[in-house]
Amino acid sequence: MKRISFFFVAFLFSFPIFAAQNIDFVDIGELDRTIVFDIRYATPNNFTGKIIYPAARCLLRRDAAIRLLNVQEKLEKKGYRLIVFDCYRPLSVQKRFWEIMPDERYVADPSKGSRHNRGAAVDVSLADAEGKPLPMPTEYDDFSEKANRGYKGASPEALKNSAILETAMKEEGFEPFPTEWWHFDAPGWDQYPVSDFPLKRAAGCED
Ligand SMILES: [Zn+2]
Repeated sequence: MKRISFFFVAFLFSFPIFAAQNIDFVDIGELDRTIVFDIRYATPNNFTGKIIYPAARCLLRRDAAIRLLNVQEKLEKKGYRLIVFDCYRPLSVQKRFWEIMPDERYVADPSKGSRHNRGAAVDVSLADAEGKPLPMPTEYDDFSEKANRGYKGASPEALKNSAILETAMKEEGFEPFPTEWWHFDAPGWDQYPVSDFPLKRAAGCED
């Protein structure tokens, strides 16, 4: 009986501490209706050619989510919107990616864990005010040097859009990933633990 009460008390206390550090996971789709969702791994339109996620959801650690919502708010004032391709990715999905492409240039080794497995990384792009995707240097998940942030061979319009996105993300503390124009890490991303809970459909969501 004493054992049960101890665990019960520990259970109760774990929640406020967890929330206070803003490391709990939140669903961007429940907090914002203006970000454009194009969760590629919930469709066959990704490098695997298969539907990997059972739900097109963007879950992030609360601190990263707040920052992303701030980016969206600032971009909206300038006539743009964020497009989100990928957020939290379960570790078991990372293992599947690794089976398909065991090359660290393109896919993070699951024994180390991807930044996305920690829930503090986002893959994003830029749309106009109507949600139409704007030209960017490459397609998403283009595994070539053309996706590098230093690559200057893209059209001036694409380079400008990429710079607008990067500036907006950096202003909210996100760190741009050098070899992928779409990838950004929230501050302290490496302090979050790797997670592996499944990405399920939201409760009450029928589509
Ligand atoms: Zn990424």
